[in-house]
Amino acid sequence: MKPTPPGECRQCYPHAYDKKIHARLKPGEDCKPCLDHKDNGHGDNIVPKTSKWW
Ligand SMILES: [Zn+2]
Ligand SMILES: [Zn+2]
Repeated sequence: MKPTPPGECRQCYPHAYDKKIHARLKPGEDCKPCLDHKDNGHGDNIVPKTSKWW
């Protein structure tokens, strides 16, 4: 799986691009983590854009 690029949410990005994650949900069932982020925002899960820490 691809690493989450800067500026993207560590949770929502794989959920959006890896169909397997939502494949476990029943049709019409909401993904709890996705709902949570939709309602409350992504918080600390956004990958920082600064890539050079060293
Ligand atoms: Zn999801
Ligand atoms: Zn998110």
